[in-house]
Amino acid sequence: MTDPATRTISIFGATGSVGTSTLDLIRLERDKYRVVALTANSDAEGLAKLAKEFDAQVAVIADASRYEVLNDLLAGTGTEVAAGPDKLVDAASLGADWTMAAIVGCAGLPPTLAALQCGKTVALANKEALVSAGALMMAEAQQAGAILLPVDSEHNAIFQCLQGGRIDQVRKITLTASGGPFRTWSREQMTSVTPAQAVAHPNWDMGAKISVDSATMMNKGLELIEAHHLFPVGLENIDILVHPQSVIHSMVEYHDCSTLAQLGSPDMRIPIASALAWPERMKTDCLPLDLTKIATLNFEAPDHDRFPAIKLARNAIEAGGAVPAILNAANEVAVAGFLNGDVQFLEITDIVSHIIDSYSPPNPDNLADIFEIDTKTRERVSAMIEGIKV
Ligand code: NDP
Repeated sequence: MTDPATRTISIFGATGSVGTSTLDLIRLERDKYRVVALTANSDAEGLAKLAKEFDAQVAVIADASRYEVLNDLLAGTGTEVAAGPDKLVDAASLGADWTMAAIVGCAGLPPTLAALQCGKTVALANKEALVSAGALMMAEAQQAGAILLPVDSEHNAIFQCLQGGRIDQVRKITLTASGGPFRTWSREQMTSVTPAQAVAHPNWDMGAKISVDSATMMNKGLELIEAHHLFPVGLENIDILVHPQSVIHSMVEYHDCSTLAQLGSPDMRIPIASALAWPERMKTDCLPLDLTKIATLNFEAPDHDRFPAIKLARNAIEAGGAVPAILNAANEVAVAGFLNGDVQFLEITDIVSHIIDSYSPPNPDNLADIFEIDTKTRERVSAMIEGIKV
């Protein structure tokens, strides 16, 4: 029987940037946790290593062609091995006390929903799931009595600032944005951006997809949609402010004109630690903030001409229905195309905009509808990219 002092924990996307940062924190308090499920897409070697170290109950690899490798690597251990997207859902349905949803992309939606349906605590990094199916996810979380803790540094900052007042007392939420590696570049300079330049974020060390999203500023657009679902203050009351140092992670202004901000070094382990220990606080070995070294904090308005992605996202959430799911799926495929060398950097947002304008499916009612929209959007974008290539 589990020691009542230990919490059961599952990490979806364990081999990624957020997943490994989460496991770094668990190493600091190893005896407090029992690991239920760890998952990856295709990195069987990385997953097997983590499953052995943390003595995971189950290790799931989404790419079924990697099952044999994972199974061989974990032979003789107590870890059960499974493969395929359905097994991710089964693992999430085991209902760990605390689940980290850190799969990248809409592929994370089914296991995240399954974890929410267990009515436990879900720490959400997987913003694409919320962008595509925000209303559905929030309704499921509420119905199951699940606790949804935002992990994205901005949303975690807002969550922390909201401990200082009530949501109905909020006048404005300000999401800060670093501006990405091309903050000061002209459109002309951005025509020749390479994947290596786009993934080299000035402040944060992250996975490839979110790094490209930060470079186009689609990341901030996705975060705007994420904030709209998590913090119901009205879309018109959520602003975006470019703050290149990434020290203030976001702010909440109350009706009395008091503004609360959360500050910290740009290290994802800080918001993850806040979600892991919540409602307590844990000690970490992260770098404390030294404002004398930083000395200056700068702020500027986003430039919507050079970075049209934020407006695309704002329009998508205003349009509602299928549009946010189309925006997300189109962006995922366009970013993958850019990373493969098939799409130019500036074409990413052009593709998203074009698909939104040319595809109008009926409003989704359920998860199946959302997946149909997601699949059809991916097909359209892939065909469009094939057309660009020839
Ligand atoms: P990474 O690319 O570093 O890791 C992604 C993880 O998801 C890996 O474990 C990967 O497995 C797994 N994965 C990828 N595709 C699939 C799939 N189709 N099915 C199942 N598993 C899959 O991403 P990040 O850690 O950077 O980002 C994860 C999520 O967190 C994203 O939604 C991102 O927007 C969000 N986020 C990330 C931040 C960061 O600092 N990195 C900050 C804030 C939010 P494998 O290793 O086998 O490929």
